[in-house]
Amino acid sequence: MKRTKIKQLFSTTPTGQEVTVQGWVRTFRNNQFIAINDGSTIQNIQAVVDFNNTDPNILKRITTGACVSVTGELIPSPAKGQPVEVKVKQIEILGDSDPEKFPLQPKKHSLEFLREIAHLRSRTNTFGAVMRVRHAMAFAVHKFFNDRGFFYIHTPIITGSDAEGAGAMFRVTTLDPQNPPKDESGKINFKEDFFGRETNLTVSGQLEGETYALALGEIYTFGPTFRAENSNTTRHLAEFWMIEPEMAFYDIQDNMQLAQEFLQFLVRYALDNCAEDLDFLDKRAKEEEQSKPQDQRSELGLIDRLKFVADNDFQRLSYTEAIDILKNSNPNKKKKFQYLIDEWGVDLQSEHERYLVEKHFKKPVILYNYPASIKAFYMRQNEDGKTVAAMDVLFPGIGEIIGGSQREERYDRLLRRVNELGLPEKELWWYLDLRKFGSAPHAGFGLGFERLILFVTGMTNIRDVIPYPRFPGNAEF
Ligand code: ATP
Ligand code: MN
Repeated sequence: MKRTKIKQLFSTTPTGQEVTVQGWVRTFRNNQFIAINDGSTIQNIQAVVDFNNTDPNILKRITTGACVSVTGELIPSPAKGQPVEVKVKQIEILGDSDPEKFPLQPKKHSLEFLREIAHLRSRTNTFGAVMRVRHAMAFAVHKFFNDRGFFYIHTPIITGSDAEGAGAMFRVTTLDPQNPPKDESGKINFKEDFFGRETNLTVSGQLEGETYALALGEIYTFGPTFRAENSNTTRHLAEFWMIEPEMAFYDIQDNMQLAQEFLQFLVRYALDNCAEDLDFLDKRAKEEEQSKPQDQRSELGLIDRLKFVADNDFQRLSYTEAIDILKNSNPNKKKKFQYLIDEWGVDLQSEHERYLVEKHFKKPVILYNYPASIKAFYMRQNEDGKTVAAMDVLFPGIGEIIGGSQREERYDRLLRRVNELGLPEKELWWYLDLRKFGSAPHAGFGLGFERLILFVTGMTNIRDVIPYPRFPGNAEF
């Protein structure tokens, strides 16, 4: 008999029809009640075994972690909190699980412990919920852009350009590290490498994305990006997924508006489509908060936080205005910031971003017009001669969730900046070409997918919102 997913059974009227459920045993109580989960929903279904008429050798094998297939009648459940249950007629053990050795006991495990068994943490309520929400968010990203006529462009993962400036890169090579070919001057000869040149894993699809925006109008990328920075934080991964829309004929204002509408759409989509999982994650986050000191707890619970973001405009202010606020803030005057703000031009640290969002405005913030000196070469130069049309979207608990800008579309200005920064003009020939032939005002941004998932799930470490995190010193699995 074909199996029915548990999610579907919970919306079926039970009339004693015969159904088959296949999934993993969460618990088995009183030799009678099996809680089965098949991943289709956070809910377990209860399967009730008639232990008097079941082979004791089978009963013994119904253990936490085992995979079972049960067939029986779907009936209304007398137990509280579950609409239906299965009265088992037939049970088959598809995969045994030795209860002495199975590391996931039906109790609370720490996230640190679960990271060490990332191949099994998928079977916990928390990771099931997080990954279902992650799926829904990926789907919603495509829906948002598709509904607006954006085209999904697959930019390369192996790139020949290392001038993107977004971070340190991972080298891609087929040369033998023990014995690489050398040129006359004794340097490694990359002409003999697979691509006949040095190549890296991409840190961003933006530059290639721009070439398609200036052809198809509005495009986006959604793919893996790689950064070899040694940042051991709860918000950085070495391999993460990024969504990068790029739009012709947008200025910085249009860009900020799109960023806000995009994030609000995603959050609303989660509220509307992931209610069960969010309920669970909300409760989970509340329990975690209990262990924090009062002043570090967030004022709103997860779901209230999501609703707030979905329904309220983000605060927009310039970098210069932000510096004024920060300079005069209490933590700055009382020297509570680790990095004190004393002059215009400094880069903001996450403590400053979080002060603005969580303490001062108490809502998401979009900062724009940053000093050119702390931003990338391709950002559009403002008339004041010192700032560029950059924008960062800052979220509570996260800090920077989006970074973007209006791009410099003027050939001379861009070239001057490339040379000022000593970037390889030769390698950027195609990017500069874009400004020679039919240039147009355009803008775009990058949303870190895992930072979005952190926000939507209320999880606090980015290593827990991606199936297999990659970070310094770790590439297990
Ligand atoms: P940060 O200052 O937080 O390190 P960034 O300024 O280097 O980020 P961008 O180059 O602007 O980041 O990348 C765009 C977006 O990608 C960021 O806003 C963030 O959401 C996400 N992001 C950047 N680096 C990482 C990383 N190492 N791991 C996960 N997400 C990241
Ligand atoms: Mn950034």
